[in-house]
Amino acid sequence: MRVYNFAPGPSALPLPVLEKAAAEMTDYHGTGMSVMEMSHRGKTFLEIHARCQALLRELMHIPDNYKILFIQGGASMQFATIPLNLMTTGAATYIDSGNFAHNALVEAQRYGRVDVLASSREDTYNHIPDFDVDRIAEDSSYLYITTNNTIFGTRYTQLPKPKSIPLVADMSSNILSQPYDVNDFGLIYAGVQKNMGPAGMAVLIIREDLIGKAGPNVPKMLNYQTYADNDSLFNTPPAYTIYMTSLVLEWLKEQGGVEGIYVKNLEKAKILYDFLDASEKFTALAAKKDRSLMNVTFVSPDKETDARFVKEAADAGLVSLKGHRIAGGMRASIYNAMPKEGVEKLVDFMAEFEKTI
Ligand SMILES: *Cc1c(COP(=O)(O)O)cnc(C)c1O
Repeated sequence: MRVYNFAPGPSALPLPVLEKAAAEMTDYHGTGMSVMEMSHRGKTFLEIHARCQALLRELMHIPDNYKILFIQGGASMQFATIPLNLMTTGAATYIDSGNFAHNALVEAQRYGRVDVLASSREDTYNHIPDFDVDRIAEDSSYLYITTNNTIFGTRYTQLPKPKSIPLVADMSSNILSQPYDVNDFGLIYAGVQKNMGPAGMAVLIIREDLIGKAGPNVPKMLNYQTYADNDSLFNTPPAYTIYMTSLVLEWLKEQGGVEGIYVKNLEKAKILYDFLDASEKFTALAAKKDRSLMNVTFVSPDKETDARFVKEAADAGLVSLKGHRIAGGMRASIYNAMPKEGVEKLVDFMAEFEKTI
């Protein structure tokens, strides 16, 4: 039996994608082998690799002057590779809107001066802090944000628009969930295990003029130029992850693309937030104006009840609702792959559970 999986990442994948992968597992399109057994230089894999990029380009309307790179090491490795490749002036500006944003800026401090333009750390990151792009130092190389804060359940509803430096965005937990104009960014990146596929790589969408600026001491495998020059095939790529990601992107296209799934995501989030706002026992944690569509954080009246809720929900087939250890309480991650019925089931369960508090 499949459960409704509210895990934050790795997270639920669409069932048709898993079924297709299963059907193609032992003999991919008559090759007599699985995708994980074939050469990454062979025609069959190169087609998968190209299709994955083409689908992403189509779904996000990525302009021609942006390159798509596939890099192992997850999103966290980018916390270092971004300053290594982009901090050409020895300084960069960060907005501290959550734990991953904070980790990114701490890592960047190894490589130069980091200015924190705004922070909501003192409020346990329950909102997106106010920012003023006019206060960015003149010698800053880029402005860094996290578009969706996975742990605390907030997202930017308005992007900062720095005047003369690129905007760099960690989009790990909301890429492909709502339309963005790629032109607003110098670099978008995401660990794929939340909304795009199984764990194993980060996808980067980078404006071409930002490639090729890494210093001579930057390791070849951490230099964006290496990936750009070799179509992300300098060494063995995470081939199966790329294949699975291509299946997820195909599925997303069938859902009406990003524009189509966005409508469904708004609907799903509304069901849950409307319930929380009306509830006398459950409370939503994130500031209303900044609520995430992907990660919904909430608490019951006390920690014991939180624990009982998580356990009883799991017994009812609604799993992985425990909040992150830093934020506490509960978190329902309702990425693209979570069907509306899953959210409806959760709300029904909460309504019943509420009567026992
Ligand atoms: C999960 C997550 C990360 C960390 O991803 P890894 O691939 O585990 O390094 C970074 N940023 C955000 C916004 C995330 O949600």
